[in-house]
Amino acid sequence: MNQEELFKNIISHSKEYGFIFPSSEIYDGLSAVYDYGQMGAELKKNLRDFWWKSMVQMHQNIVGIDAAIFMHPTTWKASGHVDAFNDPLIDNKDSKKRYRADVLIEDHIAKIQAKADKEVEKASKKFGETFDEKLYRQTNPRVLEYLKKAEEIEARFKLALENNQLDEVRQIIIDLEIVCPISGTKNWTEVRQFNLMFSTQMGSVSEDSGTIYLRPETAQGIFVNFLNVQKTGRMKIPFGIAQTGKAFRNEIVARQFIFRMREFEQMEMQFFIRPGTETEWYNYWKNIRIKWHQAMGFPESKYRFHDHLKLAHYAKAACDIEFDFPFGFKELEGIHSRSDFDLKQHESFSGKKLQYFDPEINESYVPYVIETSIGLDRLFLSVLSQAYKEEQLEDGSTRTVLSLPFALAPIKVAVLPLVNKDGLPEKAEEVVNILKYDYNVSTEAKDAIGKRYRRMDAIGTPFCITIDYDTMENQTVTIRNRDTMQQERVLIHELKTYLARYLSLSTLLEKCI
Ligand code: ATP
Repeated sequence: MNQEELFKNIISHSKEYGFIFPSSEIYDGLSAVYDYGQMGAELKKNLRDFWWKSMVQMHQNIVGIDAAIFMHPTTWKASGHVDAFNDPLIDNKDSKKRYRADVLIEDHIAKIQAKADKEVEKASKKFGETFDEKLYRQTNPRVLEYLKKAEEIEARFKLALENNQLDEVRQIIIDLEIVCPISGTKNWTEVRQFNLMFSTQMGSVSEDSGTIYLRPETAQGIFVNFLNVQKTGRMKIPFGIAQTGKAFRNEIVARQFIFRMREFEQMEMQFFIRPGTETEWYNYWKNIRIKWHQAMGFPESKYRFHDHLKLAHYAKAACDIEFDFPFGFKELEGIHSRSDFDLKQHESFSGKKLQYFDPEINESYVPYVIETSIGLDRLFLSVLSQAYKEEQLEDGSTRTVLSLPFALAPIKVAVLPLVNKDGLPEKAEEVVNILKYDYNVSTEAKDAIGKRYRRMDAIGTPFCITIDYDTMENQTVTIRNRDTMQQERVLIHELKTYLARYLSLSTLLEKCI
């Protein structure tokens, strides 16, 4: 199965098992907007809890808030979003399709880099164990040529972005002979800037109503509350404020399922620090965040850091954690060293001081900020695409399984009476009543037991407990592990202890530090 087929299967699996539905589907959906179904809502909540606890519960100097989506419109002037939250767009005159000019160029660069990787892969197969990849990359003329070409384009593109030269961005597209994937032509319009914020009116129209925006990021809710939290929480620098919540962007090109949505959820943390300590804290958060991703147990090779090509003028450093989605490596999370830019902007637009008195050095200053920012929906997609497996079993049959980290699974335990009679369903209910205080438990009596196991595998349920005739005699049940498919007999009164070992979120949190 190639990656494209895999991605299609993941999308249809998500719908078939109640993870993700197109929004307002009975009206044919709404572009780049999705609803989470009964399984998706649980998985999303578990991912959010994992992030929240790793930030707020695991760090005594990080607290969480929940700011409103609507904010005073000046917020977005101060943050720069009204003037500069733009994407460069370009249209193909033949297909009438609209693209992000930066994405067209970045995809082209990625294709050239992939060619270099392919050369390396071919050589690695040819030379076997004696192959020295590093040396080959440094010396093979063809690889060097590809990498040089990619670097040259990158440099030219970076310069154009820095100088805001939209003509030059267009010229790069022309020079690289990039064609529209739909029409196949190079008949491009000019490049224009397009603001991504959604706006609406507050108050009734007859009143003195003003334009307000749906927040395009959650971070500003944290910045404007910096002093409120610092003072009421008696927070001492360094400290962080975390928040999760909806954000809205009128994305030009909305593709790739829940990767790029117009309404999505962010999980952001701003860490306030003393100026001069930003390199240390930037590296600290890079390390903590990659560990957090890797705690979920997926292969480390699926994640990589990517330094930003274009740094905002105030930024000291910025990188993305990229994930190898079925459509290639793409941004999953951003880590940004933002200096005192945001707080200073809010100081100047609000006329209020946003400073901190540091008792250790006897000085007041506007703190610097390190930000970690991840999209919950993108995280969901990364986890889903890594967990989804179509397995060939030893007996020749196949199964689709979601090998989610146990602690994140939507349903933790299924209690299944072997037959739907002789008191077994009642016994199953007794077991459900013991476990439901701790876990989402499902019970099902219909269909052969094998079929019921398969349904539970498909939604990623870690354990199936089967109630059989022996249960009625000796108060034991069988527990089947989703991944090994091995079964063990366990006493009913020992179930809670048995399950806690595997299902607690602390199994993941312990790996994050
Ligand atoms: P991109 O370059 O992909 O548009 P970005 O650099 O604009 O993303 P940020 O503003 O840094 O993204 O937002 C932080 C995180 O929010 C991203 O890493 C991503 O996970 C998530 N995110 C941003 N835009 C979207 C979107 N349209 N749909 C889903 N998630 C998003």
